[in-house]
This record gives sequence, C-alpha cells and structure tokens, in this order.
Amino acid sequence: MVKFVLEVALQFISQLTKAQYKAYLVGGFVRDYLLGIESNDIDITTNATPKEIKEIFKDNCLPSEDYGSVTVVFKNIRFEITTFRVESLYVDHRKPSEVKYIDDLYQDLLRRDFTINTICMNDKGEIIDYLGGQDDLSKRIIRTVGSAKERFSEDALRILRAIRFATIFSFEFDDDVLEAISECKDLILELSYYRKKQELDKIFASSHAFEGIELLLRLGLDKQLELSRLKDVKSTNSLIGIWSVLNVLDKYPFTNNEKELIKSINEVMNLNNLDPMTLYKYGLYVNSVAGEIKGMDIREITEAYNNLVIQSRKDLLITSEEIMGLLDKEPGAYLTDIYEDIEGAVLYRRVRNEKDVLSDYIISHYNGERLV
Ligand code: ATP
Ligand code: MG
Repeated sequence: MVKFVLEVALQFISQLTKAQYKAYLVGGFVRDYLLGIESNDIDITTNATPKEIKEIFKDNCLPSEDYGSVTVVFKNIRFEITTFRVESLYVDHRKPSEVKYIDDLYQDLLRRDFTINTICMNDKGEIIDYLGGQDDLSKRIIRTVGSAKERFSEDALRILRAIRFATIFSFEFDDDVLEAISECKDLILELSYYRKKQELDKIFASSHAFEGIELLLRLGLDKQLELSRLKDVKSTNSLIGIWSVLNVLDKYPFTNNEKELIKSINEVMNLNNLDPMTLYKYGLYVNSVAGEIKGMDIREITEAYNNLVIQSRKDLLITSEEIMGLLDKEPGAYLTDIYEDIEGAVLYRRVRNEKDVLSDYIISHYNGERLV
C-alpha cells in the first residue's frame, strides 16, 4: 500500500515537472514513508503559484482553505500543494503577516518547523535533504530548523506539534527544543482553541496517548492548555474518553457528535453501568468508555449488554400499529409513555418479551381512561 501511494504521488508531481515547474513531496508523507508508516495526506512544495497549479489541475482542485495552497484529489488521494514561500513578521506569535512566493526550495525549507519535516523527494523518488532531516529521523530526534526559541516564538503551535511528533513516534527532543518549550510555553495561551484542539486530538488519538499526556504533564503544559484534569486521565486511552475526563466542553470546540458523546459519557459515569436501563439507554459504546474511565472490566459490561432482553425499541415483539389496534386509538404522545413503560418492564424481566404477554399487559394497564 505504501508503495502504491508513493507511485501515485510520484506520478502526481510529474504532472508539475512536465509543465516545467519544480515540485517535490515534502513534510509528513516523506517523513512517514521513511519511517515505514502509511499516510494518505500528501504535501507538495512547488514553485508554481496557486493560479498556475489551478490551471494544471482544473476541476480536480477543491475550494482552497489556506492562503497560497491548493488541494487536489487525484486517484482518491489528497494532495496539498503549497507554493515555495518565505514568511515574515509574525503577529501574535501565530500568523505570518506577510507571505512571499519564491523560486528556491532551500529557502522554503527554512521556514518549516522541524528538520524531520523538511525531507523532500523528487519525481524520480530521490531524497533531497538539505537540513539533516534523515540524520535526525534515524536518531529519533525532534530538532527545529534554526533556533527553537525563535521558531516557537513565531508560532507557538510548533510546541504542540513537537509534542505530537514525540508522542506518535516516541522521539526525543533536542536539548534546544526542550529548553525553548519551557521558555515559550506561555505563548500557548495565545493560540486559538481550535488549533490547540487539532493537535491535542492527534496526541490523544495516538496509540501512545498516555506517553503524550505524561509528556504534557512533565512539561507543565496542562496549565497553559487549561486542562486542569489532565492528571486524572489514567484508565482510558480512547480519544473521546480522554476528552470526557478533561471535561472542557465550555472551552474547546467540539462537533455536535462529540458533544453528545462526552455529555452521555459523563452522565453514565455517575450511574451504574451494569444497570439494564443504563445499558439500554446509552448503548454499549458510551457504557464501555464510561466503564473504562471508572476502571471497570469492559468484558463484564459487554456481557451485561449482550444479555439485555432488548437492545433497542425495535427488539420489542409488539409494534406501535399493534398497540394502537389493541387500544383502538389513533397515534399520539401516549405511545411514548407506553413504550417507556414496557421497555422498563421487559428490561427488568417483569414482563416477558412475547407478543401475547405484551398485549395482555397493555390491555390490562392501559384501559383507555389513563391515555391522552
Ligand atoms: P501530518 O500531515 O502527518 O499531520 P505534517 O508534518 O505533514 O504532519 P502538515 O500540517 O500537513 O503536517 O504540514 C505539512 C508541512 O508543512 C510540515 O511537515 C512542515 O514542513 C510544514 N508545517 C506545517 N505546520 C507548520 C508550522 N506551524 N510551522 C512551520 N512549518 C509547518
Ligand atoms: Mg501533512
């Protein structure tokens, strides 16, 4: 698979070089390729301007999000093409106020964050490594391009990126990086929660999430990241489980789906996971994550879930049409009440989940007078 993606990537940059532009694979894809890791998100650096890139790839270009970079989808792979540039005058330690397109690869590499992210590959598959990236990759070291203090002061997100790479690859920091993190860490407070969340998501989603959390704590960044509960993340290493423990819904931006899961997990944390209604109402996933946070045995939760008489309303052996027929009534809000009642009765095994039994139960309990 890695080989296949590489072939497509080389084919892709050949389209630029055939049009007489310089073009190289760079960044995460080359780094990951050399580490033997698959990646489908490919960064290209070129002297073609966004306008020229769009002329070549036309309809395959996606509407661009970032200034000066064009996204192209080719054979189902995403290519992020960025024009060689120098960035200057950083405002607020995060955004370059001026971006100038240039014609020189070397200059472009100098503006990048870490040496391991500056390794390039040309259309023949040859490595171009001006800044010693391969050497650091083999020594497993995160080193900034130039002075770490300067680079972190320009853009404090690089601190979190350094932690992300150290976590994912189990790399060490160069001494200069370590020192600069402690000197520059307050600049993290100026970053948007959106950018911080993007990096934290990658750290927490890593299979080495615990090491990443330990690293953040060791560096004392829980304070700047406003994650006061970071030290409480002990028994869960799932992304959503970690965010549930951190409980920062009021600060960090989450999707609606994430928000709902986190809220449910926090609710279930205060309930009994082995209670049939809790299992039924919140489902196996939420119960497992909440159970994991509480240090429970997930197998026990899964077994209890699998032993539920019903796992969803459609498992009840009576339909709403049948209920309406039994009571000779039109649809109405009363159906919800009946459902909740019979779900509880069936889950706690007071009533068997059989059509006749449920019919008798409904007739004897809902004789018409109590219904609205
Ligand atoms: P991945 O794609 O695996 O998340 P990546 O290193 O490719 O990792 P991207 O965000 O895709 O990260 O960025 C592509 C390249 O752009 C990086 O490898 C790096 O060379 C450069 N880069 C990205 N963000 C920064 C930054 N904040 N400062 C300097 N260079 C950066
Ligand atoms: Mg990338």
